[in-house]
Amino acid sequence: MSRIQHPSSALISVFIKRLERRYGRPEWQQRLSPLEELVFTILSQNTTDANAARSLAALKQKYPEWRQVAGGPPGSIAAAIRSGGLSRAKARYIKGALQGIIKDKGDLSFDFLKKMSNQEAIAYLTSFTGVGVKTASCVLLFALGRPVMPVDTHVFRVSKKLGLLGAKASRESAHRTLGAVVPSADVYSFHVNLVRHGREVCKARRPLCCVCAVEPLCPSSACGMRILAFGMKNTKPV
Ligand code: SF4
Repeated sequence: MSRIQHPSSALISVFIKRLERRYGRPEWQQRLSPLEELVFTILSQNTTDANAARSLAALKQKYPEWRQVAGGPPGSIAAAIRSGGLSRAKARYIKGALQGIIKDKGDLSFDFLKKMSNQEAIAYLTSFTGVGVKTASCVLLFALGRPVMPVDTHVFRVSKKLGLLGAKASRESAHRTLGAVVPSADVYSFHVNLVRHGREVCKARRPLCCVCAVEPLCPSSACGMRILAFGMKNTKPV
């Protein structure tokens, strides 16, 4: 097996600083409890955060107690979360994870996670069907403030464009690579800013390279080609 080439910490540090200059340095604040973060991230698979939030609200309205979800009929759970898509699979994943945690830990307090190392927590959470490394990492980062980098679709795409990940990198190897090189104190900021950058500038279909904060360092920049194709007047930074 070939050795994974990690980007240098100096390069990562430059990207972190440039993105913070553009978007600010977001400070961590808990957005949901660990249980809700787990359910929310499952609900966000293949849909937007807004849809996932709607599904979570509908689920909580139908089942005021999470134990009721663990014991609820899958069809009824799926009906509550239908607006987010893939509802039958997501209902199975959520119910399965909650049932499994009750069986293993006796309740749904999620306090057990606080006693686990990051690696132990990821190994435990990913033992449930439908819970991948990204979902487990979101629980650790957003709900517990642990320096664990979730690699979602934006982080994955932008990191590849920036040359931080090889062209053939998988999502799984991306978690290892970025996890090894992003300083703990910067994980939250870098994750949030990469997602924002992916949504607003480095878009999947038409990246806005000529107004990009990291363009001078990006090996995938198409800005020069756009200047040639459209002329300078369309390329002023905003
Ligand atoms: S220069 Fe273009 S491809 Fe590179 S990060 Fe910026 S928007 Fe993405």
